[in-house]
Amino acid sequence: MSFKLALIAVIISLPAHADTLHERFNAQQAYAYTAQIAGFGERWPGSPGHAKTEALIRQVLQKDGARIEADDLTATTPRGPIAVHNIIGKFNVSADPNQQIFILAGHYDTLFQKGFIGANDGGSSTAILLAFADALAGQKTKMQIWLVWTDLEEAINSFTGDDGLYGSRHLAQKLTANGTRSRVRGFFLLDMIGDKQLDVARETESNRQLQGVIARAAGQLGYAQYFFQYDVGIIDDHVPFINAGIPAVDVVDARFGRMGPTFDSMGEFHHANTDTMDKISQRSLEVVGRTILLTVELLDK
Ligand SMILES: [Zn+2]
Repeated sequence: MSFKLALIAVIISLPAHADTLHERFNAQQAYAYTAQIAGFGERWPGSPGHAKTEALIRQVLQKDGARIEADDLTATTPRGPIAVHNIIGKFNVSADPNQQIFILAGHYDTLFQKGFIGANDGGSSTAILLAFADALAGQKTKMQIWLVWTDLEEAINSFTGDDGLYGSRHLAQKLTANGTRSRVRGFFLLDMIGDKQLDVARETESNRQLQGVIARAAGQLGYAQYFFQYDVGIIDDHVPFINAGIPAVDVVDARFGRMGPTFDSMGEFHHANTDTMDKISQRSLEVVGRTILLTVELLDK
């Protein structure tokens, strides 16, 4: 009895903070997930690598105690009908029907291109969300946090008309149709954030106020130089959510490798088969992961 009482006294005297969400982000694990996913090979919908990625996402979500939901559709594409599987992992779902929701998203599909591995484009976004799941496991937030792995972000031919963003368009429409939209406080898309030369764009269609909170979090952590040093507009999975009236930010490093007239407009390694693990840095994953989770903490107050 006396031993028990003493133990309780010790527990009570511990500082309440213990570890915060951003401190729980494990960059080494995020890097390991990226390598594992890149190792699955091409991950376009219907490929074996895509199925392996889906299985890994579900396995990690299950381990971390998330509520797993599927958002499936058959997309009409220039390649014909394609089965598309968005995967949602929900954390800290309360009984309150008006509980606010914050969404952290990234695409897990890769380009339909022979030999394209997408360590950064598709791999890093999938992996950082898995590391977010690990950080969220058993961690209380007031907001409901949704991790969303979007599918078929990549265009079949090019981002013109209705080609591309198939999964995110479907989910944004669904949130509007079922009345969930008004509860969504914000949406952050993570894309190509593993680049060794990390420089996250100030994406011009994104919500300025939320970009400001990200900048504040980055400043607090000493990471200010990695964020918002240049402006660029990007067509990405955040667009359908902006169109649905949800405050959204594309957290995207839009300069991947050397820039110039002979390269892709997003850099030499963008949509190139040279988008491989040697271009990925654990430090970049750490900078983005900690910054985004601290931003969530700031918004959760
Ligand atoms: Zn891409």
